[in-house]
Amino acid sequence: MAILEEPVKGPVVLKNYIDGEWVESKGELQDVINPATGKLIAKIPYSTKKEVDEVVEVAKKAFPEWRKTTPLARVRCLFRLKELLEENFEELSRVQTQEHGKTIDESRGETRRGIENVEVAAGIPSLMMGYNLEDIATGIDEYLIRQPLGVFCCIAPFNFPFMIPLWFAPYAVATGNCIIVKPSSRCPITQAKVTELIEEAGFPPGVWNMIHGSGAMISSQLITHPDIKGVTFVGSTTVGKKIYQECGENGKRIIAQGGAKNFVVIMPDADLKKTILSLMTSFYGNAGQRCLSGANALVVGEDDLFYKRFVEAFVDAASRIKVGYGLDEATQMGPLQSKRGKDKVLDYIEKGVQQGAKLILDGRKVNVTGNYPETCFLNPSVFENVTPEMVIAKEEIFGPVGCIMRVKNLNEAINVIHQNRYGNAASIYTSSGKSAREFQYHTLCGNIGVNVGIAAPMAFFPFSGMKDSFFGTLHGQGQETVRFFTESKVVIQRWW
Ligand code: NAD
Repeated sequence: MAILEEPVKGPVVLKNYIDGEWVESKGELQDVINPATGKLIAKIPYSTKKEVDEVVEVAKKAFPEWRKTTPLARVRCLFRLKELLEENFEELSRVQTQEHGKTIDESRGETRRGIENVEVAAGIPSLMMGYNLEDIATGIDEYLIRQPLGVFCCIAPFNFPFMIPLWFAPYAVATGNCIIVKPSSRCPITQAKVTELIEEAGFPPGVWNMIHGSGAMISSQLITHPDIKGVTFVGSTTVGKKIYQECGENGKRIIAQGGAKNFVVIMPDADLKKTILSLMTSFYGNAGQRCLSGANALVVGEDDLFYKRFVEAFVDAASRIKVGYGLDEATQMGPLQSKRGKDKVLDYIEKGVQQGAKLILDGRKVNVTGNYPETCFLNPSVFENVTPEMVIAKEEIFGPVGCIMRVKNLNEAINVIHQNRYGNAASIYTSSGKSAREFQYHTLCGNIGVNVGIAAPMAFFPFSGMKDSFFGTLHGQGQETVRFFTESKVVIQRWW
């Protein structure tokens, strides 16, 4: 099949978007490489402290007017943005594939989920409403209003470069705040494209800004800046925990969504054919670089025949996944996003072998369709005889590696899940309502799937998380994010 046209033609030097202007940074430049082709596609600046101070200053200046703008007028900018995102849907999706490596269908799915957040945030006149009660005492009424706070920053990971900033930024501006988006330095081009559309959508200067930079710069300057009221962070647990602490010390609000190690439970009454199909997307979609990816398969029961059939079908399906460039529509799995990411996965595979797990499908023997450098590519791997104490079962590999374990019953499966430090997602495959109910009731994970391998909440539900996968009290998306971006004020009024 033909390769779709690449929208990013050559190495573009990315600029910051500050106060409605595209500004060249004085910071040093880093390369952005297409992980499939190995080509240099952009240079991203590591912005300076002066530039960080400048972006916070302009956002702070824009805030008083923007908060006074009526919710309906604010939302009109979001409606225009939504139209522009739809018009540019295909280009935005292809850019994601070019800089991240995911398949074009995965990128299109991401674009759709991101736009859904703009749609939900456009409901802010209702979502932001307070409430009242008359006659709380004789002649006295009381009511609650929600007000914006000021300037927020949004720190995004590399793996969903389009969608994740949209879990937060549309709600921030819809509620009357100003926002500074810091895309991942590994995948910054998609947000640059989104920001071009933000400019067209007619937000006043200073309301929605974007600044590029390294993680360390953000940590020391943006998060601790006295005029930043709060931070949204999505990324690894190590960094999330650190930022959570920094925000606490500096009195700032924070939503911090961290890493994951997700378990999938396969009951003996599961529909094997449909389960395997669903598990391929769960384990190997996005080349395993999803916080909701299946990583550990727990096969339940003592039926050796069922177990054998499961393992054979899983390995057979994984071995047939077509690996290649994501802009080839026939590709089913793209490369890892970076060589560093691939090396980390290779390291884990080695540790798995050393600790005695049985590598029954070795994805290190790379088989890529098309003439591309192997630098970032891996094929799906499968381990059998994995135990919960092994490093490959405990830690986030963030790559196309599936670990299969056996457990006697559902209780044991839930106990194994609870031994893990993370609590982002877990799924069960079963035809029993009772097992499904038991599982969703007891399992300590934020996102639960029943016969669903990627339990990704829609934009009007929170993107949840527990244990070491989440720090804070409110989550990204929907009503909880509206709460995060607003302060409640209670007014008691006596009438005389
Ligand atoms: P990361 O933690 O390396 O980086 C995330 C962001 O933080 C980037 O913008 C980066 O520049 C910045 N950063 C890096 N070091 C920093 C520091 N010391 N101080 C401040 N900021 C810093 O994460 P990543 O590799 O980009 O993303 C992958 C991780 O994100 C995985 O662990 C994945 O599970 C997680 N993730 C979680 C969710 C969720 O909702 N829970 C969703 C997507 C991804």
